[in-house]
Amino acid sequence: MTGETILARCAAKGLRMTEQRRIIARVMDDSVDHPDVDALYARAMEIDPRISLATVYRTVKIFQEAGILDRLEFGDGRARYEDAEREHHDHLIDIETGAVIEFVDPDIEALQERIARRLGYRLTGHRLELYAVPLEGDGQDSEENKE
Ligand SMILES: [Zn+2]
Repeated sequence: MTGETILARCAAKGLRMTEQRRIIARVMDDSVDHPDVDALYARAMEIDPRISLATVYRTVKIFQEAGILDRLEFGDGRARYEDAEREHHDHLIDIETGAVIEFVDPDIEALQERIARRLGYRLTGHRLELYAVPLEGDGQDSEENKE
C-alpha cells in the first residue's frame, strides 16, 4: 500500500467526513482483500453497531466517485472495493471458492502496451481478470466455499 490513508485523501478532497464515513474509510484502510458492501458492513458494525447498510452503500459510492476507491466486478454481480491508490496489479478469481489472487506479470503489461500502440493508442490503464479453477492434483482441496 502506498501513499496516504484513505481518510487523509478524503480530507484532501474536501469530502465531508461524518463519524460513520470515517469508520468506513478506516475499515477500507485496514482491508487487504476486496470486500463487497456486505463484508464492509460487517466490519464497520464491529466498530460501530449503529452503522447502516444504506450508509455503507452511499459512502463507498461517494469514495468511488472521488477516485479514492476502485469498484471491481468479478463476474458474480457483486461489486467489490479496493483502495484506488494500491500499486497496479491484476486479479485471478478462483470460481470455485471465490478466492481472489493478485498478480503482476511484466509480459502481460508489455503485451497490452504493444496492442494499444498497434491500434494507434497510448495505454493509460487496464484491468484484467482471469477466471479459473484449481489444477487437478495440486494438493489443494476446495472444500471452502465463500458465500
Ligand atoms: Zn486487488
